[in-house]
Amino acid sequence: MDTAAASHELPTYLAPTDIGAWSIFLQQVDRVAPHLGELGYWVETLKRPKRILIVDVPVRLDCGRVRHFEGYRVQHSTSRGPGKGGVRFHQGVTLSEVMALAGWMTIKNAAIGVPFGGAKGGVRVDPRQLSQNELERLTRRYTSEINILIGPDKDIPAPDVNTNEQIMAWMMDTYSINRGRTVTGVVTGKPVSLGGSLGRRDATGRGVFVIAAAAARKLGLAVPGARVVIQGFGNVGNAVARCFHQAGAKIVALQDVSGTIANPQGIDIPALCDWVAQGRPLSEFKEAETISDEDFWHTESEFLVPAALERQITAQTAQQIRTRILIEGANGPTLPEADDVLEAKDILVVPDVLANAGGVTVSYFEWVQDFSSFFWTEEEINQRLDRIMHEAFDTIWGESEKHRVTLRTAAYIVACKRILEAREVRGLYP
Ligand code: GLU
Repeated sequence: MDTAAASHELPTYLAPTDIGAWSIFLQQVDRVAPHLGELGYWVETLKRPKRILIVDVPVRLDCGRVRHFEGYRVQHSTSRGPGKGGVRFHQGVTLSEVMALAGWMTIKNAAIGVPFGGAKGGVRVDPRQLSQNELERLTRRYTSEINILIGPDKDIPAPDVNTNEQIMAWMMDTYSINRGRTVTGVVTGKPVSLGGSLGRRDATGRGVFVIAAAAARKLGLAVPGARVVIQGFGNVGNAVARCFHQAGAKIVALQDVSGTIANPQGIDIPALCDWVAQGRPLSEFKEAETISDEDFWHTESEFLVPAALERQITAQTAQQIRTRILIEGANGPTLPEADDVLEAKDILVVPDVLANAGGVTVSYFEWVQDFSSFFWTEEEINQRLDRIMHEAFDTIWGESEKHRVTLRTAAYIVACKRILEAREVRGLYP
C-alpha cells in the first residue's frame, strides 16, 4: 500500500487497485497543509471530490453491435466558481485518475487566478479503434449522460488527451439541442467558427514556453541554443516544440506512443510537424535516429518537458534525468518521491498547475467572450495570456523563496489559500 493509501481515509467507491493518481494528489495536499495557518482547518475539504457522476455510454458500432464504455465527470470543487476542466478519451481512464485530474484543475484555476473551481471528465475508450461516426455517437451520448451536471454557469468541459475542437463542437451541439437553444459557453476549446477563441489551440504549449523562459531567466540560462527534451507530441508537446524551435532552442529528443527519436543537432520541428500531420508515426521520422525509451530519460538537456500522461517520472527515472529545468506540460507526470530526488539534484521543477495553465486561461477568455458575444484579436489574447502567466509565475516564485519550498508547494500554498478562503467566507451549509 502506498503512503497516501496508508495514511488517509479513502472513499469506499475507489477500488483498492485504483488509488494511483489520486494518491499523488493527496500527498501533494499533505505537503501544503503545514503552510496554511488557520485555513488548514478546511484542508480536509480538498481531499474529497465534491461530486462524482459515473455513466454508462452505450454506442452502436458501425457493425451493428452495441458496446458499452465507462464515463465519468468529477467536480472536485466549486468553492471559487463553476467546475472547469477537460474531458479525456483514453483506454487507461479510471475513476482515481479523473478524481486527481479534477483536483489538479481546482489547484491550477486558483493558482492562475481564474474564477473557476475544478472538474474533469473522461471516457475509458481507445478512440483510435473507433470510426469518426462511432466517435461522434460516443461523444454525443457521453454529453447527454453528463448533461445534468454541466452548463456555462455550472461546469464547463474542454479538450484534454485525445479530444479536440471537433469533439467540443459535438458536445456543444448536443447540449444545445437538449436545451432547445444554442449555448456556446457550455464548453471551451471549440472551433473559432462556433464561438471558440483565437489562440486557444496553442495556448497550453505557449504558456509552457512562457513559463519555461521565465524560469530560465531566474537561473541565468539562455533559451537560444538550449537543448530541449520533450515527451509527447500531441496538442501540448507539438506547440511547446514549435515555440522552443522559434526561439532558437534545439529539440534534441522527442518521445510519443510510437517511439523515441533524437538528434543532437536539433530535430527539424517544422518538417516533423508536416510529417506527423500526414498521419505518419513520429518514430519513423527520417532526419533523426531512433533511440530506446530508456535512453530518452538519460538525454542531457537544459529543459525537459513531460507533455504526455501522468506518473511518468518515478524516483528511479528522476535519478537518471540530466536537465536543469523540468517543466510539466502534462498533468501529474512527477511522483512525489521523484520530486524529492529532483530537488536533491538541484533540478528546478515547474509544476503542472502553473506550467500548463495557459490552456485553461484561454478557455477562461473563450468563456468570457461567449458570454459577451464580443471577440478579441489573437494579439490581445496572447498579450493577456502572457501577462497572467508571468504574474502567476512571479507570485509563486516569491512564495517559494519566502517559505523555502519547491515551486510545487509554493503553487499549492497560493492556490489553497485562495480556495480555502473562499470556502471559509462562503461558510458551511447548513
Ligand atoms: N485539459 C486542459 C488542462 O488540463 C484544459 C482545461 C480547460 O481548458 O478547461 O488544463
